[in-house]
Amino acid sequence: MLMEKERQELVDYGNRMFADGLVTLTSGNISVYDPETGYMAITPSGIPYAETRPEDIVIMTLDGKIIDGARKPSSENQLHAAVYRVRGDARAVVHTHSTYATVLGIAGQNVEAVHFLLPNVMGRADVPLLPYVTYGTKELADEVREAMKETPAVLLQNHGMVAAGSSLADAYTRASAIETTAELQWRAECIGKPRLLTEEEAEETYRSYSTMYGQKDRKK
Ligand code: 13P
Ligand code: ZN
Repeated sequence: MLMEKERQELVDYGNRMFADGLVTLTSGNISVYDPETGYMAITPSGIPYAETRPEDIVIMTLDGKIIDGARKPSSENQLHAAVYRVRGDARAVVHTHSTYATVLGIAGQNVEAVHFLLPNVMGRADVPLLPYVTYGTKELADEVREAMKETPAVLLQNHGMVAAGSSLADAYTRASAIETTAELQWRAECIGKPRLLTEEEAEETYRSYSTMYGQKDRKK
């Protein structure tokens, strides 16, 4: 089976995304991209994550040609392809309808640097909000392509969130951290005006996270 490892990875992360509460029902979708073949593996449209099997994953090119798979691909396949086109470093895309990120978008807010987690995973101080466009359309894909020249993740107004990454683990970490930060922002707004990290603070925490955090600078 073509892209067997990637298919299993998409099934596993789909179940994880559901278990972590980043999606409900059949909302959201995920993909991975192999620049060597030009093939994208993407979740099928409208199939519950718990019922999705590796053979349900669809393999397609970025211009929409189905290479392998009997299912219809995610309705957002053009959006995923647009991200790979504009971000040469992207190898995975995670699209969620996670509650707090979606709530902030509905209220017309970006996710801001209310916690150092956000600049750490974004390399910038916010997750910008894009105006509402109907799901599954080329218009939405075009809007995301323009915006994601400048950012690895965006909020979609009255819809959800899109995060790209250098691997599925990386895109998923970004999506999850954005949701955590959105919840903190919403909760802080309930009791007052959140303090945001300054630009210098955001840059400093990002520098530290990307060079030293965890095992990165462990002495060999
Ligand atoms: P699919 O089931 O077609 O992937 O659609 C879910 C979704 O989130 C649309 O934006
Ligand atoms: Zn969606």
